Amino acid sequence: MKNITVFCGSSISNNEVLINQAYELGKFLAKRNIALIYGGAKIGLMGKVADGVLDHAGEAIGIIPKFLTSKEVLHEGLSRIIVTETMHERKEKMHNLCDGFITLPGGFGTLEELFEALTWSQLGLHQKPIGILNSNGFYNDMLKFIDQMITSELLKPSNKELLIVSDTIQDLFQQMGDFVPHPVPKWMNKNL
Ligand code: AMP
Repeated sequence: MKNITVFCGSSISNNEVLINQAYELGKFLAKRNIALIYGGAKIGLMGKVADGVLDHAGEAIGIIPKFLTSKEVLHEGLSRIIVTETMHERKEKMHNLCDGFITLPGGFGTLEELFEALTWSQLGLHQKPIGILNSNGFYNDMLKFIDQMITSELLKPSNKELLIVSDTIQDLFQQMGDFVPHPVPKWMNKNL
């Protein structure tokens, strides 16, 4: 994997563990010569990941829609900034440029980006690994909720396997590197 897209909070958490792990992920990417592709902001956990990359001479590419490029938001130290017209164009670029996705703790925007990547994967539109860095068990309740979707037969168990989860950076990369995509039929009752 040469380019990783990271989805994470544009807010800064009150939990030091989440902040530190965001920074450590950036440092890890830089040390492995993996470029960071992300939303381009200097604020929140997003800014921490980018700082972790840039403080260790890595490459951080920000993809940001024009309306968010204010001085308060845009990280001006980035290796490259791609300004898009719309949010949709931005998301398309974040998808196309990467070899895999990592989700850190975040809010609505982060979840929307994660679930879009998952949805596109289950429809067979891409076959890139999708990881969650489950810092401090942040996503435990969401993972339980996903099991509820399976119990209710609204999600195929094999589609849950599209989601790679770990609470350590090293192990997450190991699992993402080992990820073998398989064709997954979306519809529960079809023998495709
Ligand atoms: P949220 O989790 O709601 O804070 O949203 C964070 C996610 O949405 C990030 O992964 C970004 O791609 C995008 N995003 C939200 N707010 C911003 C912002 N101010 N600047 C850049 N990207 C943002």
